[in-house]
Amino acid sequence: MIKVVFMGIQGSGKGTQARLLSSHLGIEHVNVGQILRNHIKQNTELGKVFKTYIEKGEFVPDKYIIDMFEKDDHINNPLGVVLDGFPRNLVQAQFLMDGFHVHHVFLFELESEDIAIERISSRRICSACAADYNLLSKKPKVEDTCDLCGGKLIQRADDTVEAIQKRLTLYHNRTAPLAAYFEEKGILSKINANHSPEEIHKQILQILHIDPNTPFYDKKK
Ligand code: AMP
Repeated sequence: MIKVVFMGIQGSGKGTQARLLSSHLGIEHVNVGQILRNHIKQNTELGKVFKTYIEKGEFVPDKYIIDMFEKDDHINNPLGVVLDGFPRNLVQAQFLMDGFHVHHVFLFELESEDIAIERISSRRICSACAADYNLLSKKPKVEDTCDLCGGKLIQRADDTVEAIQKRLTLYHNRTAPLAAYFEEKGILSKINANHSPEEIHKQILQILHIDPNTPFYDKKK
């Protein structure tokens, strides 16, 4: 069982890397933002609450996030998990370290906030299956249409200029300082997110001592 955490500024490509690593290892990719957005899409009672925070670019209060952690089977999958978008503040980080064994934390850094804003503004997401695209680096084959399911591509409701600014401020004030917390515990690696996705994936495998040709975790055994 391996538990890895991916943290990073918006637009740093941590979601792409989380997907690559989880599929290499055959383990769960838990994208906390996506779980919250699924609630909104399904119009659940919780979804109605989450929407008010997410659309403004604010954090969903810790009590909801921690409750989700305690109950969600995906997050607690015994085969292991790549956590994408959690923790985002010290309360969440302490909760994680108290209750779970975390192998490693990767912090994705970009050279400038302008790059983050440019990447987020050109991001599109499939309204049906949530696959993500980027008009700069990962265009769909047919304009506004998902390659995988044919669904309509949309911009996320929180990818507006105001919400992006708020999310970046929250990132700098609340999430980035966690680097020191995990560094002190000796489990942090900083990743230069300006490199290509392939290079970064290789670097992550190296840091985790995973053979790029062999899945680290063989589910059949
Ligand atoms: P993301 O898809 O990771 O950009 O997350 C989208 C939004 O979901 C964030 O801007 C927050 O409003 C909310 N969110 C995601 N993860 C968390 C978290 N760990 N704690 C609080 N809010 C979160």
